Amino acid sequence: MNLSRRTFIVGAAGAVGTTALASNKAYDNAVKKAKKGALGKVVGSLPPGRYDAHIHVYPGEPNPEALVKSFEKAGLAGGCIFSECPNVFGDNAKKHSPEKSIDNVIKWASLSPTIYPFYWINPAAPDACDIVDMAVEKGIYGFKVIRADGRPVDDKSLPVYNRMAYHNKPITFHSGILWDGRPSSDNFRPANWEGLLDVPKLRFALAHISWPWCDECIAVFGKLLNAILARGEKVPEMFIDTTPGTPKIYRKDALTKVFTVGYDIRDHVMFGSDCRTDRYNVNWTTDWLKFDDAVYAELGLDNGWLDSIYRKSVERYLFGSADTKRSIPTPDGIV
Ligand SMILES: [Zn+2]
Repeated sequence: MNLSRRTFIVGAAGAVGTTALASNKAYDNAVKKAKKGALGKVVGSLPPGRYDAHIHVYPGEPNPEALVKSFEKAGLAGGCIFSECPNVFGDNAKKHSPEKSIDNVIKWASLSPTIYPFYWINPAAPDACDIVDMAVEKGIYGFKVIRADGRPVDDKSLPVYNRMAYHNKPITFHSGILWDGRPSSDNFRPANWEGLLDVPKLRFALAHISWPWCDECIAVFGKLLNAILARGEKVPEMFIDTTPGTPKIYRKDALTKVFTVGYDIRDHVMFGSDCRTDRYNVNWTTDWLKFDDAVYAELGLDNGWLDSIYRKSVERYLFGSADTKRSIPTPDGIV
């Protein structure tokens, strides 16, 4: 099997839309014509297909062939993979130095032009800004943060996020309850990210629709859009990453609210699975895709919307957009 030329089954695993989003050929043609960036990845516009924007690398030897095969099986065209957790200490810290973790995730992503390596960074590390520079130089396409030791946005981390914005690289945050065996929930409530208003030009995503604080997540999304009135174009661009998280009985409600609240969320809501690269759970992903597609069908979202959720949002998240015109919500009674 020639893995250098990708043959993912592009289109909709479990899609309810009648037209598949694209054929393999369309994907191959798009890759051929596409502009290539660091590590030979497609940049600017993503080829047709569905993308999984939230996948984790666990410690161990990369097996990029297996990952590509799993993507094929799940009907995915590509996605974002996050390097292993950086919060390791003692002897393990050497084994998991930033440089090694970056090389490792790059290797995991190496057999597809549309699997993008992200570096999971500890923004409180004293040399975090230098690590951002090094990661970008090595070809990292974005960052992941689960702030383990405090609020996600503070004086320590703001310069690090500014550095990412400077490099035009996005960042996915864990938001919502974290089952880490510690009293940490206060740190993960979406309102904590309002501090990113001081990082204009940053593109960031809150994962898991911040479950169980989905309403708060949507409200923060609206607030940041509305902040354009006070701050001009200089506000960060927020994305919602729908990675579960949300148990099914809450998920339909959460997705319904996201897509009917009336805010300008088009191209700002992405799908993610939270799978691992070393044992990508195809059934898990296709099951969630099927579930979400059924909700979207009920909401009357057409194939254009499906393409927005499964591809264009990830494209905009990764590369930004020249089109910054957004419609600004002005909630009644809130001044
Ligand atoms: Zn995750």
